Amino acid sequence: MTRLLATLAAAVLAFAQTPASLRIAPNDLKADVSFLASDALEGRATPSKGLDIAAEFIASQFRRAGLDPAGDDGYFQTASFESVKPNLDGLELTLDIGGRKIPVDPASMLVTQPVAAVLDNVPVERVAANGRQSLASSAIVIQISAQAPRAMPGRTALRDAAMPAAVPAIVVWDAAVRDALAAAPDASVNVTARIPPPAVEPVKLRNVAGILRGSDPALKDTYLLLTAHYYHLGVRPSGDGDRIFNGADDDASGTASLVEIAHVLAALPAKPKRSIVFVALFGEEIGEIGSLYYVHHPLFPLAQTIADINLEQLGRTDDSERPKVLEFNLTGFSYTTLAATFQKAAEEAGVRAVNDMPSGDSYFARSDNARFADAGVPDTTISVAYMFPDYHAVGDEWPKLDYDNMAKVDNALALAALDLADSAGAPEWNAQEPKTARYIKARKP
Ligand SMILES: [Zn+2]
Repeated sequence: MTRLLATLAAAVLAFAQTPASLRIAPNDLKADVSFLASDALEGRATPSKGLDIAAEFIASQFRRAGLDPAGDDGYFQTASFESVKPNLDGLELTLDIGGRKIPVDPASMLVTQPVAAVLDNVPVERVAANGRQSLASSAIVIQISAQAPRAMPGRTALRDAAMPAAVPAIVVWDAAVRDALAAAPDASVNVTARIPPPAVEPVKLRNVAGILRGSDPALKDTYLLLTAHYYHLGVRPSGDGDRIFNGADDDASGTASLVEIAHVLAALPAKPKRSIVFVALFGEEIGEIGSLYYVHHPLFPLAQTIADINLEQLGRTDDSERPKVLEFNLTGFSYTTLAATFQKAAEEAGVRAVNDMPSGDSYFARSDNARFADAGVPDTTISVAYMFPDYHAVGDEWPKLDYDNMAKVDNALALAALDLADSAGAPEWNAQEPKTARYIKARKP
């Protein structure tokens, strides 16, 4: 093709896909968020009826957009999980520290990974990392802590039924143990333990996935992933007044954005070159288990997944630091080449893509994008406010979101997604940034 023809073709394409055709309506976002964050869905806990209803709603919206189903059961990617409750009856743990036997007070320990085990005087290694001390062997991991974990003792854990059972893990905050370890820093440590089998129940959880198939013969088998978690914290077990964690900003806002961005991109007259995969994830707040499940059971090859754009907290502008209006931030701003694409799209949509430090780097590993990064996929989480009043509180309700602002931000995100899906080059990790070394190493060739 001559240069003139190529320029003309690009101009025609640009005309067909002007920002005007990518306009997301504030009321559509409000409708989605107000439903997802309604009391009727009871905080969308994993697992719960409210979560199932939310999943059905997202699937119906993907159907409305005209996405192809990408799950094993229509739009649903079914995850077989196990709900595992530690059995405290007969739990025993004794540490031998340099010949001194110390039985651990059952009230000062918590089994965080309940796997049945009987250990008789097994040597463990003393490991110190990031100011934390652990006692570890191939049979058990014991983390020594200054205080009880914030999580409720005796809580139920969820684990992927397809993953091999790990070794038991226990957190110990018994002062006698801490003192004995501190008094004999070079002493060898042996563990005697009896961890009874936990109560295990099968649970079905679901990611919701749809695909907008690409149009370019060479690029359609590469994938841009857009994700948001639809799960939230459920209902507070006790207390007066409102007990429902509605999770309007966290993360009904990201889920609604996912749905509406899917709708405008699928409605374009020309399909993007690469395929775009939209996934609403379960279980973010309890260890990103929905994204971890996806990474372990990818619907499309991770090696051909060019990036994950994760959407979190896009509606509230009343950030605890200062009002965040007409701007959004990317975590790990300098980690990848993604930021440049978002800056350009933001400018076109009349907003700004900013590097909000130090939060931007510290939050990189604290959302679903982290699981994709660990698998080597270049990614980021996009947010408007990182911290806002009502964060993880029952007051995170849908009327508190700024839907006009959210629509403007979403318009920019849709433009950026289209740019990424249409460009010949794929996003890359920034090798100049030392923090990306482990992600570059994990990237599949
Ligand atoms: Zn969240």
